[in-house]
Amino acid sequence: MNNIKVDIAIIGAGPGGYVAAIVAAKEGKTVAIIEKDKLGGTCTNYGCIPTKAMLASVSVMEEIENAKRIGLNVEKVDLNFSDVIKHRNRAVTASRKGIELLLQKAGVNILFGNGIISEGKNIIVKDDKNDEIANITYDKLIIATGSTPVKFPPFNMDEVWTSDDIWNIENLPSNIGIIGGGVIGCEFATFFAKSGVNVTILELMPQLIPTEDEDIAKELLDNLKKNKNLNIYCNVKVTECNKNENSNEKRFLVKAQMSDGNFKEFSFDNILLSVGRKPVLPEGIDKLGVKISERGFIEINEYMQTSNPNVYAIGDVTGRLMLAHTASKQGEIAIENILGRKNSIRYSDIPSVIFTLPEIASVGLREKDCKKNGINYKIGICPFISNGKARAMGLTKGFAKVITEVETDKILGVSIIGPHATDMIMEGVTAVSKEMKVEELFQFVHPHPTLTETIIEAALASIDKAIHL
Ligand code: FAD
Repeated sequence: MNNIKVDIAIIGAGPGGYVAAIVAAKEGKTVAIIEKDKLGGTCTNYGCIPTKAMLASVSVMEEIENAKRIGLNVEKVDLNFSDVIKHRNRAVTASRKGIELLLQKAGVNILFGNGIISEGKNIIVKDDKNDEIANITYDKLIIATGSTPVKFPPFNMDEVWTSDDIWNIENLPSNIGIIGGGVIGCEFATFFAKSGVNVTILELMPQLIPTEDEDIAKELLDNLKKNKNLNIYCNVKVTECNKNENSNEKRFLVKAQMSDGNFKEFSFDNILLSVGRKPVLPEGIDKLGVKISERGFIEINEYMQTSNPNVYAIGDVTGRLMLAHTASKQGEIAIENILGRKNSIRYSDIPSVIFTLPEIASVGLREKDCKKNGINYKIGICPFISNGKARAMGLTKGFAKVITEVETDKILGVSIIGPHATDMIMEGVTAVSKEMKVEELFQFVHPHPTLTETIIEAALASIDKAIHL
């Protein structure tokens, strides 16, 4: 068995763990990272990268379908699913190899195996055969073990897919029921619907992507509904899911209570369950005495430190804004604090990005947050149809929405649905995190013609000073 002594041991090599490892190594610390599956974690292998690679294909397809309006005649666009998968796999492999190279270059000790918390400041690493392959002694430990999809009755059957096991399909299904119309459900629905699959979304809450602004969710619903093969039901509670005994019919029978109180039966060949994720805790965690919340997440303070001062936790396992860039930022902050430089994050400044068609991105407060917290707010909306660049591109769906505080004109939140929303949100991030007033943001000259002009117009509209609206 390999005995290794390091300054920092990290369990989990997702975007939280691997970024923390590189930052720490570059600061001169000795680091070991333990991964039981694949480098890059959920993000690289089962999340951000593969979904975005597949969505890139249907996004280009939609652009080609709309190309006539900018003067291009394209006869027919065919989606070849096995080629889409090849493209997706290439993107995933390149990202994973890139991470391996970065870790190696930084001098991080990579160990593949299950990291198990042992007595004292030790981690035992076991391989697939359950043989102990290493003992790591650390000064500080970072737990970055991520999360996994939840599966519960009546859906706990092997045949029901989650975002972890959908990746092995080789052919497009003819139909799919998506249970949960949150971010993951809507991204998959976008891909499958654009690929010609009959899709039905069943969402418990009154709107799609319940975390997002109501106007944004409504615009998304209106756009998704344009796909004739996509049915969306909100305010729906699934009560039963059974395998269909009649092998000539669809494989699953689902019963749901609809918004009007009546029950409706659906039948699907395939089901994707996308109703949330739960934390993954390493074996032996009880030996560390770290506090775990009622929902099973590791509790941390603003410095990413757990109730055990030598143990830090980052990423999905902490249950804060479960996004790759949150995990990475928490990783950087954990290292800063281990190095004695007090640093923290304001979670309200972290943007969320959703790669539906059209894209969605937001930062700061939504209207419902303002209402809940009794904040005196006003809103400004700038539709992309009023933007020169959007018109020139023929991409005029959606709008930018800015929320400002009545008393101060401070920008509290920015939400965008439309072309390149996920790239444009950085202006919102700057404005919200620097607590800028509308006039301050307006001092920056926005290049013309660009899509970013929608953000400044929406901000100006919120204080009744819009120029082009
Ligand atoms: P993970 O990425 O889950 O990594 C944890 C790693 O720890 C895993 O590799 C696991 O194998 C390993 N591990 C666990 N226990 C042990 C152990 N005991 N020993 C050794 N190794 C262990 N986020 C975005 O920001 N943008 C997106 O577009 C986006 N799209 C997504 C799409 C989907 C379908 C999904 C499911 C998620 C998406 N996310 C997205 C969320 C993002 O993937 C996660 O927030 C992010 O991966 C969390 O990073 P992490 O480092 O905390 O954990």
